[in-house]
Amino acid sequence: VLAGGGASLDAVEAAVRSLEDDELFNAGRGAVLTRAGTCELDASIMDGRTLKCGAGAGLRTVRNPITFARRVMEQTPHILFTGEGAETVATQLGVDRVEPAYFITPRRREQLDKRMRELGLAAASPDASLTRGTVGCVALDVHGNIAAGTSTGGMTAKMPGRVGDSPLIGAGCYANNATLGVSCTGTGEQFIRNAAAHELSSLVRYRGLSLDRAARTVLTERLDIDDGGLIAVDREANI
Ligand code: ASP
Repeated sequence: VLAGGGASLDAVEAAVRSLEDDELFNAGRGAVLTRAGTCELDASIMDGRTLKCGAGAGLRTVRNPITFARRVMEQTPHILFTGEGAETVATQLGVDRVEPAYFITPRRREQLDKRMRELGLAAASPDASLTRGTVGCVALDVHGNIAAGTSTGGMTAKMPGRVGDSPLIGAGCYANNATLGVSCTGTGEQFIRNAAAHELSSLVRYRGLSLDRAARTVLTERLDIDDGGLIAVDREANI
């Protein structure tokens, strides 16, 4: 998309869609399971040119949550839809739908069974080591426009209804032509507490840090080193 002179938003949506369709990743088909054995998908997308954004949380039948997020951004006056309302909006927006079973793979089922045994079925924090595989994409196009997108099933054995950082603008996703685009992965609660994606942008914008310095600051000083990671591109194409 980018090589053809296309828009960063189109590139982000295309990249994330292909990863959602690939069961190796924790997004779309092959997403991790809640402790109820279901998939609840979260995604967001942001346009750095306009600061427009869209997101969905707890999606159960939307084949490509990133496309849902984009249509929310472009075709509704709102930003984030969740639960039953999101399913209704998905119908109105005409995005591809699937049965909930489409997302569930044997590998994730085994992973959940293992985790539930470890938990003794008790409430405990979801295990970050079983969750990596959230997908994200950041892009800068030839027009100087930055976009970012993030899509995930969340964390293995999360409580049903739990929403992570991925659909929250400023936490797991952010884009602003004035600074950068960023997509995060890791223990969502930590990224939310620290508004990690927006914090990265702020360090570049207000403290004048390079992208590299700012990313290291977020990952090691705001977050704990094993909380997760991020991908980012700034307006000068540093990555
Ligand atoms: N950040 C995601 C969440 O907490 C999970 C991940 O990135 O692996 O939902």
